[in-house]
Order: sequence, then structure tokens, then C-alpha cells
Amino acid sequence: MIQLTTAANLENAIAKARTVKPRVHVNAFGSYTVTNKQTGATYSVECLKQDGKRFAHCSCEAGKRGRACYHLAAAVAAHIQLATERAASH
Ligand SMILES: [Zn+2]
Repeated sequence: MIQLTTAANLENAIAKARTVKPRVHVNAFGSYTVTNKQTGATYSVECLKQDGKRFAHCSCEAGKRGRACYHLAAAVAAHIQLATERAASH
């Protein structure tokens, strides 16, 4: 589980996500399945809010060690977009 503060700690992961371009499937708001289209590997990413802080977690090896991986970055990008769309529709 990593805390999402600024985009800075995700910068490298975001850059990798842009290169790899994984597919992000939305299971539910805050729950995502990220697929590496080259290898077919899938990972679960969860985004949640606790005490006003945002956290995210990925099921991959890097994610388990609390590192920001590109799966997480890709899912967080989708999550932010979804949250923005939700806010706009209310
Ligand atoms: Zn990951």
C-alpha cells in the first residue's frame, strides 16, 4: 500500500505506463484490473481514501513491497478520471 501524495512519487511509474500502455479494466470505482498486453499478465489495483488521504495498492511483486509500479500508475490515472467524471455529474 502506498500513499498518493503528489504526482512526483509516481513520475517514473507514469512514464513507464505511457511506454507499456497496459489495459485498465474498471471492476468498480476504486477496483481495477491492469493487463500487460505483451505478456498477458494481470494485476489487481485498489484505490481507496482513508482519513482524507489517498492510497493505492497493486498485487504485483513491486506493489507488495510498497513500490509505485506502472500498473498502479495506470490504474490511478483511470481512477482520477473516473472520480473527476463523478464529481462533474453531481
Ligand atoms: Zn503493479
